[in-house]
This record gives sequence, structure tokens and C-alpha cells, in this order.
Amino acid sequence: MPHATPSPITAPARVVFIGAGPGAADLITVRGARRLALAEVVLFDALSDPALRDLAPTARWVDVGKRGFGHATGQAAINALLLDACRLHHHVVRLKGGDPSVFGRLEEELETLRAHGISCEVVPGVSAALAAAADTQRPLTRRGTGRSVSLTTAMTHLGALQASRTADTEVFYMAGRQLAELSDKLLEAGWPADAPASVVSRAGWPDMLATDHNVATLADATATHAHRPAVVTVGAGAAPVGVARAAADAAIALQDPIA
Ligand code: SAH
Repeated sequence: MPHATPSPITAPARVVFIGAGPGAADLITVRGARRLALAEVVLFDALSDPALRDLAPTARWVDVGKRGFGHATGQAAINALLLDACRLHHHVVRLKGGDPSVFGRLEEELETLRAHGISCEVVPGVSAALAAAADTQRPLTRRGTGRSVSLTTAMTHLGALQASRTADTEVFYMAGRQLAELSDKLLEAGWPADAPASVVSRAGWPDMLATDHNVATLADATATHAHRPAVVTVGAGAAPVGVARAAADAAIALQDPIA
């Protein structure tokens, strides 16, 4: 008696969000690289290093790069592409620049997948602020002077520019095109005109550029970093190592003799 043909076993799709890091392919984590190697399809953004493809050479690579900020239709299209990928594949990777949790629209994509019952995993990555601190060898926290760090987008969802002074070190993402305006807003927010400001573009790449300014002269960085992704670090973490150390040590010794 003929056996009925078994229906194909369709394992449910799983999406792994992987932080690619800010640039060179070797800044992805080991876990990220291992998960990437299993991918059947990889949805990636424009900033990703093409050399990352070598980590998943047989996967289908789909460029979903949305340039700019706040394009709801772009995000809706990406959500739809993710769901399409899940219908066709089991191992779906969503590769994001830097860390997926930092200005990566992770919330929208997780919500979409969860609403369809698709299980997800998030693998962290090196965010641009951390790569910039490493490239310039400027620790984001400093004993005595830098106890808090804020990762801030200068752009509101409506495209307006905003600045704040909520932490000892503030790192601004997505402000590279409006440095003069950022300078004005920082002064309005109460930053001293001579507070250090470091601009790093293409952090983590071999052609990284870093320039030093203060809050009042930030606009001077515009031409050097034009058309390159850049972060602006302001406050304690922007100062070159050594410059503020002696003064900070003296202050700590006064406050707390055993520190
Ligand atoms: N998820 C990313 C940020 C995405 S938002 C992360 O964690 O890094 C995009 C912004 O990140 C850019 O406008 C720029 O401000 C910053 N950025 C991304 N890559 C960068 C790089 N290699 N160097 C400096 N800034 C970068």
C-alpha cells in the first residue's frame, strides 16, 4: 500500500539581529560571525563593510539600506522584507551597523516579528561611540570627572536638531551635517564654550578621521568630516588623556583622601 507523502518539515524561521560594528569586518563579535555563517539570507544596511560577505558567502544578501532618518515608509518596507524572508528561510540574519540597540530601529523590527510569532535573538555590536573612544584613545568615563555617558541623537524624529547636557560625557549621533547648529544648541543647553568636543568620522575604519575642537568651535569640523558618518563627543570623554588628569586627581584627593 503506497505511503502518503509526508508533508515537508518546515522549521519555523528565526531572526538573529547582529551588530556588525562600525566598520572593518573584524570588529564584529565572534558570536556575530558564527551566527552570520549560518544565515540563509542576510538583510543588511548601507553602512556594512562588504568584507562581511565573506562570513556568509552562500547566503542571499539583500541591501535594505535606508539612508537618512525617520523614513517611515522605508522602515515599513524593511519590516515587510523581514517577514518575506521568514516565509522562505529558517536562518534569517538582520545585520545592523554598530550595535542594533543604539539608534538601529530595533524596536520596530522586533515588534513586527513578535506580532507574527517569530522568535528573535539579538547579538550586540561595537557602537560608533565606543569605536570613536577606542580610535582616539579617550575613555568615555574618567575617574573623578566623567561618571556618566549619554548616547544622544541630535535629530528629533521630526528632523529638528536638539542638544542637551545630561551627562559628563555626551556622544551625539547623526549630527555630522549640522555641526554649526549643534554648537549653538550645546551652548544654549549650558555647555561652557571651552568644553572639549571631539569629532570622529568613519570610526573603526582604516581611513578614520578625528579632529579636536571645543563647543564654540565645533563648526570648524564641517569640511573635514563632510559626507562621512561621524559622532561628536562632548565633555569629559572628549579630552585627550593626561590633560585633565592632574587636576582631577588633585580634586579627588581633596574630596576623598583614600580614593
Ligand atoms: N547602530 C549604530 C548607529 C546607527 S545611527 C551604532 O551603534 O553605531 C547612524 C549614525 O551612527 C551616523 O549618523 C553616525 O552618527 C554614527 N556612525 C555610524 N557609523 C559610524 C562610524 N563608523 N564612525 C562614526 N560615526 C558612525
